[in-house]
Amino acid sequence: MPSHIALEFLLKILKYPSSLFTLLAARGILFKKCDERHDDGAFPDHDKIVTALFLVKNFNTMGGNLSMNRYREDHTFIDLLKRSLDERFFEWADKELAHFAERTIIYDERARHTDREGQPRLIKYDRYGEDISEIWVNEGYRQTADEVYRTGIAAYPHKPIPQLEEKGNYIYAFAQGYLLSQVEPGLYCPVTLTMAVAYLLDHFADDSLKKKYLPHVISTGEVPLYEGATFLTERQGGSDVGANETKAVTRGDHYLLYGEKYFASNAGRAGVAAVLARIEGAGSGTKGLSLFLVPWRREDGSLNGITIRRL
Ligand SMILES: Cc1cc2nc3c(=O)[nH]c(=O)nc-3n(C[C@H](O)[C@H](O)[C@H](O)COP(=O)(O)OP(=O)(O)OC[C@H]3O[C@@H](n4cnc5c(N)ncnc54)[C@H](O)[C@@H]3O)c2cc1C
Repeated sequence: MPSHIALEFLLKILKYPSSLFTLLAARGILFKKCDERHDDGAFPDHDKIVTALFLVKNFNTMGGNLSMNRYREDHTFIDLLKRSLDERFFEWADKELAHFAERTIIYDERARHTDREGQPRLIKYDRYGEDISEIWVNEGYRQTADEVYRTGIAAYPHKPIPQLEEKGNYIYAFAQGYLLSQVEPGLYCPVTLTMAVAYLLDHFADDSLKKKYLPHVISTGEVPLYEGATFLTERQGGSDVGANETKAVTRGDHYLLYGEKYFASNAGRAGVAAVLARIEGAGSGTKGLSLFLVPWRREDGSLNGITIRRL
């Protein structure tokens, strides 16, 4: 039996510290070695396998090792950013991303809790039997989400960064996303939906909608945050949005939407959703579809006629 299992294992981790695949690759090595048994069926060099397992456990617990910074260690990534951002912006982004990467260690811890014992839950009814369709998330997830949105991940492509007095950009936003998605893809999904709704509002909404909702969607703490959602898919088939059946009926200065959306990410957490529907009388297929901004709650705080069914 080769005596270098633990060493080989460590080298793999040290060589590609920022990659989740490293861990999987390292585990692959371990399992491969475990298969190589002596003739009597005993595992070879059992102590070293245990050592390696212990290292896996620590690697998992610490989100890498404590001195590791997912950003600082990723030289190719830094090089790419240096080439893509102007010097002043890069100087600022470099410090911010290093700090963000440090925070991902704690986000990673909380994400594991969210994945296992702290999973989100649908609270369908209140104690009086009223449909409240609320999504409960654990406190750690809440804190991570709050902190991440405050970094401007969905906001700075649309408003100035205070320290720079200039707008951010998608290169920086996606650089943050690259770091976040390595530890908390469950949150990065809603973040991208919020980014999408911010983009739609900023580029296509009329002035009154933009004024009312955009500051909330791109909030970094100054006003309550409205996370975004994009409800397009229906049961008839997500690939074929032209088959959508949700209809929109004119009611004065707004529309009422009737229908059911499917695979609705961030339902119950979103403050506003971009929803595809067909205005009564519009043609068939994708050409007959329109996109609506739907607030999750009415101004008095009650649900805006929305109910959630768990998939
Ligand atoms: C985790 C998750 C989150 C999601 N979040 C959202 C969300 O927030 N908002 C939202 O609107 N949607 C969301 N979706 C839905 C997603 O957009 C759809 O799953 C996707 O569009 C595919 O649609 P479908 O699942 O109905 O599969 P279908 O469209 O029914 O497709 C089933 C299969 O048929 C194949 N197929 C379809 N059409 C053709 C064709 N013409 N030729 C050959 N093969 C074809 C597909 O490749 C696929 O293998 C989410 C899905 C997932 C899994």
